[in-house]
Amino acid sequence: MHILQLECSRAERDFVVADLWEHAVLGIEEDEQPDGRVILKAWFEFAIETPAFERYAPQWYRAPEQDWEALSREQWDTVEVGSRFFLVPEWRDDPPPAGRMRLAMRPGRACGTGWAAPTQLALECMETAVKPGATVLDLGTGAGILAVAAHLLGAGRIYACDIDHDATAVASERFRDEGIEIRTFTGSTRSVRDGSVDLVIANLNAATLVDLAGEIRRILAPGGKVILSGFRERDLARVRRAWNCEAEAREKDGWLALVC
Ligand code: SAH
Repeated sequence: MHILQLECSRAERDFVVADLWEHAVLGIEEDEQPDGRVILKAWFEFAIETPAFERYAPQWYRAPEQDWEALSREQWDTVEVGSRFFLVPEWRDDPPPAGRMRLAMRPGRACGTGWAAPTQLALECMETAVKPGATVLDLGTGAGILAVAAHLLGAGRIYACDIDHDATAVASERFRDEGIEIRTFTGSTRSVRDGSVDLVIANLNAATLVDLAGEIRRILAPGGKVILSGFRERDLARVRRAWNCEAEAREKDGWLALVC
């Protein structure tokens, strides 16, 4: 077990914690100092690259052996997302409230447990954007949660891809475990035929959403839509410009999403 220790201000804490969860962290311990600084200890199964945390004095060390799994499990809770989903840590069997569907959160090696705001925003957008029987591409599937959600919402043919081979391996394992047929591949839009997808779900980042605009348009069927998530207010104008999209943005914890 590896521990990444970070130091940040109280104001930065929520942001850093959300970012850690996006990096497949297993558990986080927070320790507020008398001077208002916060020391965060984040447990990882594998050490990760830390450019995102450079500003927070990152230090790695090996964790003493202990029951880290129980520690990390305690930090997960259920969460209601949008009006249809009930996200549940996979080891719990809390029954979904009426009208909601269980969507398991599976902490692990790939991005996208379900806990982070951009994933939840994408789920909210999917509730109305996924039409029964539609062909859907989960672009940058990470651990596969959005592809599973597309299945729950009644999509027809579902594709999931990621440029990271570890992610597609983790996602494929999940789809197999849940008995869902999702065509999964390592790669990106280049492997997808022109005009073949009704809905692309892209929870990436502002730069990638802008870079891929032409490619994503190419693979969309006439009348097709895209869910763009994973960017912040400061990037809204350039994402809108790249997509020529004036739709109202959805917001959560400072993150934004658009359906174009
Ligand atoms: N869809 C998941 C994971 C999002 S994290 C969720 O919403 O929770 C973003 C993922 O996109 C990462 O796994 C990353 O490897 C992948 N990715 C980044 N750029 C990509 C690209 N150009 N094409 C496909 N996948 C990409």
